[in-house]
Order: sequence, then structure tokens, then C-alpha cells
Amino acid sequence: LASELAYFLRGRARQNLKVLVLYGIFLLTLILAYATLFRFLMWNLEGREYSFIAGIYWVITVMTTLGFGDITFQSDPGYIFAAIVTISGMIFLLIILPFGLISLFLAPWIEQRLRYHPTYELPPQTRGHILIFGIDPITRAFIQKLKARDLLFVVVTANYEQALHLEEQEGFKVVYGSATDARVLTGLRVAAARYVIANLSDPENTNICLTIRSLCQTPIVALVDDPEHADLLRLAGAHQVIPLTRILGRYLATRSTTRGALAHVLDSFGSLQIAEIPVHGTPFAGQTLKEAQIRQKTGLSVIGLWERGTFTIPSGDSLLGEHALVMFAGTRAQLSALEKFTGEAAEDELIFILGHGRIGCAAATFLDRRPIPYILVDHHESPTCQEHVVVLGDATGRHTLKKAGIDRASGVIVTTNDDSTNIFLTLTSRHLHPHIRIVARANNEENVEQLYTAGADFVVSNASVGANILMNLLEHKASAFLAEGVAVFRRPLPAALAGKTIEQSRLRPLTGCSIVALDPPDGSETLVSPPPETRLVSGTTLLLIGGPEQEALFDQIYG
Ligand code: ADP
Ligand code: ZN
Repeated sequence: LASELAYFLRGRARQNLKVLVLYGIFLLTLILAYATLFRFLMWNLEGREYSFIAGIYWVITVMTTLGFGDITFQSDPGYIFAAIVTISGMIFLLIILPFGLISLFLAPWIEQRLRYHPTYELPPQTRGHILIFGIDPITRAFIQKLKARDLLFVVVTANYEQALHLEEQEGFKVVYGSATDARVLTGLRVAAARYVIANLSDPENTNICLTIRSLCQTPIVALVDDPEHADLLRLAGAHQVIPLTRILGRYLATRSTTRGALAHVLDSFGSLQIAEIPVHGTPFAGQTLKEAQIRQKTGLSVIGLWERGTFTIPSGDSLLGEHALVMFAGTRAQLSALEKFTGEAAEDELIFILGHGRIGCAAATFLDRRPIPYILVDHHESPTCQEHVVVLGDATGRHTLKKAGIDRASGVIVTTNDDSTNIFLTLTSRHLHPHIRIVARANNEENVEQLYTAGADFVVSNASVGANILMNLLEHKASAFLAEGVAVFRRPLPAALAGKTIEQSRLRPLTGCSIVALDPPDGSETLVSPPPETRLVSGTTLLLIGGPEQEALFDQIYG
């Protein structure tokens, strides 16, 4: 019944409901007007007095052509009035109303029911498809990527309305059924599927894993809400478990600090570390990459530049602006060399974390480990976390942030679950403190731009981080957690490049990919961040970094 009701509350039906309400108001006005006129005529023509209720009663019995005949006019003008009321009753009440109800509501509804046949199973020969349980901004962003790559995906839902909506309005391939029903799973040809993405609640995901494992060995990627449930999900048979809240918390935390390079490691891959450092406050602010001489001084490779949320692969002439973030690849030793060179910045660092949900909590835990001091603000005590001290108060309130001491802060992490609040908090923090470092979380992709406009230095989008991780796992990328469209990938050295040095290979100008490490053919240790004069010997495996287009370009040129 709820789903039938929901039908009338959205889309066209909702519009029609408005028409119905307006029509109802019109009928009511008509009845009241007739009743008033009835009393006036009765009194003036026939000298009889009736109450207003009697008037309404008379109008309704006449309009519905019921006509009890207990109250009747005795004069010609009275008969004419009664006839008019009867005829208008027939038109407005007995013809237009039922006609409207049927054509505006019943017919479209029946038509939709007849037209939409949910799919209960996939054709037996279906192969290599990706099954997605649970639709949210993350899986939606992931689906965009799947579509761009022409991969076959199927969304599974046990909600009829959602199935109808996803299939009819969004054009997804949908199967209607319960994810934990073995018969449904068999009908989904789960054994022949390429991947299963489990994105429901932790208990439901666990249940899906167990049910699928009783049928086949198809790899399952599960997104876990509570990182403590990760082991349980693995035990239940998940192939990979993504603790997304923890990853997002870490991304927010590393990008909020102004500490030295080692505090900024985003990912590591063996001995290869990937770190991002804000240019602000470093000696190379305002210099070009060539002038900064980072490689000569530290051995690190600069592999990317973030400016207002756009990632570019820099050239020698790229300017390291105050607000940019530089992405490095190298060893820990090289990163500490950079730290010596830039100085172990800001001793008086203090970070404000606005919102102590799961992601805010993960960011705090990450800062605890550095340790970097922080202040958490939330209007509720956390139901799950007893570890952190929280300043209670509405962060959007006029004095909360000032009172909590935001003037002393060096950075703010804005991480509530509501984007309007996040935009508001970003604006307020920027207003109170023009030089503070603001890192904001976007729950919906559409709000990334607004958050930058509001003054954020860096925006972490839940959906794009989640979708990139899923895509990287699917494509077996070396480093799954390098989000936002940049990934590390391996390729054997193309024959055309054997014997050349890295500089002569012109790999970066041609493809945009950077070589971040080399695996020598003799099996000796990985060479991290090799200098440009390194000679590439055949049999070497390259570890490259780049976005999807750069990767495609590499394969196109050398594939
Ligand atoms: P997640 O777990 O994804 O981080 P939550 O909904 O659990 O998302 O976290 C959002 C947190 O932000 C909640 O703890 C909520 O109380 C807090 N929050 C939301 N709006 C405000 C506000 N105006 N001031 C302070 N805290 C807020
Ligand atoms: Zn906490």
C-alpha cells in the first residue's frame, strides 16, 4: 500500500493531485455560493427562513440529483434556480469529477502497472556482468564509469518502486528481488558474474556474502560502514572490504594539516609512497617546478598538481601557486629529505573538525596518531565513539566556532552529512579566518564546485573517492586507494623504449604518465622515483601514475 501511495506523491501523479485539490476547492466554493443564494431566494421569494446547514444540505441533494423533495421551491424563479443547480451538479459532480479521477489517476496508474514488468532473472547465457546491490551516490558515480567503459552492470533491488524508477527514469538494467535469496542469486547468474558490489548495510552485506559463497566463488567487493566489521565481512566471504569512512577520514585529515611531508602520505605501494603537500608555507611557493628543483634536492618525483580540485600533470614551467597541492612519489627517506628542506612547519597547529560522524571520527583518529591537536565540534554526543572529547554545539550557531577558539586554528575539516551545512560552515570559517586551511567533504558530487566557491582549499567527494576505489579494484590497479581519477598501474617496458633513458623516452610529454618506479628484470629491488637519466633495460616493469586518459594514451601508443 505504501508503494501505491508513493506513486501518487511523485512525478506526473503529484501534478495531477494538485489539479484535483484545486477542483475540490472549486466545488466547495460552488456549493457554498449556491447555499447562500438558496437562503437569499427562499427568504425573498417565499418568505421562508432556512439555516446555512439546511442550505448546504439542499444544494448537495439537488446537485447529486438525489432530490429528497423535503425542501422545495414553490415559485418560477425558484424552479429555475433549482434546475440550474441540478444541471451544474450533473456536469461538475457526476461527469467531470469521475472523468478526471479516471483519466488523471486510475488510467495512468493501471497503464504503468501493465507496462512495467520487473525483471526477475537474467538470461542464462549472461556472462561477465557486474552485480550492484545498493544504490547511493557512490554506486551511481561508479555506474557512470561503467557506462563510459561499456561494461555490463545490473542493479538489484527488493524495492518495487525503486526498481521501476531506476529502470524507467534512469535507464539502468534492474532485477527485482531480494539479495539474500539464493534463488534470486541463481537467477542473477551470480556464478558467471565478474564482480559483486555489496553496498547495503553491514549485516545485509554479510548476509549477501554468505549466500553467494554457498553458491560460487565470484569476487565480492563490500563497502563497510563500520571498519570494525571488516573482518566479519571477510570471514563471510568478501573478497575485498573497503572501509570507506576510514579512507575518507584519512583523506580529509592529511589534507588539512600543514605539517611536513611525512604527515601527508596518502598511499603507499611497497616502498613507494605517494604524498600530497600544500604549497602554502613552503619555500617553493610562487616558483615554477623547474626553479623549485625538488628532484635535485630530495630525489622525489612530482607526479601531479591539484589546483581547486583539478588534477594536472605538471611540466617544468608549471607554477606552484599558494593554493596548490603537489603530489609526490618517492621513498620515506626522500620524503624526510623534503621535510628537512621545507621545515617541519607549524608547531602551533590546531585543526577544527566540524561534525563527529563516522568520517569526522576517522579523521580525528588519524590526527591522534600523528599526533596533531584538534577540536571536535558536534551538536550531539556520538552514540558509537567514547574516545574523543567533543565540544557540544551547533557549528552553524553564531558564536559556537568563535567560542571554541577558531581564531587559533590552522585548519578546519568540514564533515557533516549535509552539504548545505558544509557550504555554510566553509563560508563562515573562511569569513572568520581568511588564511585558515579548509578541507570540506561533499556528500553529493554536484556540490563540489559550490564548496570551492565557498572558500574550501580542498574538497573530498565521497562519491568520486568511492567510485574510483571500486573502479580501481575492478581493473586490478596496483594501488586501489589513489582516488580522484589518478592511479598507479603496471606495464611491461614497451620494446620501442628499450635502451633509452627515461628522459629520452619522452613518456611524460607524450602520454602524460609519469614513471614512479621500476621493477628491474633481474628481480632486484624496486627502484623508486628513478632519476631522468636512468636507462630503461628491456624486461623491466614500469610502475606508472596517471589518470584514465593518460593510461589509455599509453596503451594506444605502445599497446
Ligand atoms: P558520517 O557518519 O557519514 O560522517 P553522520 O551523519 O554520522 O555522517 O555525521 C554527521 C555528523 O555531523 C553528525 O554527528 C551530526 O550530529 C553532525 N552535524 C550535522 N550538522 C551539524 C551542525 N550544524 N553542527 C554540529 N554538528 C553537526
Ligand atoms: Zn570519535
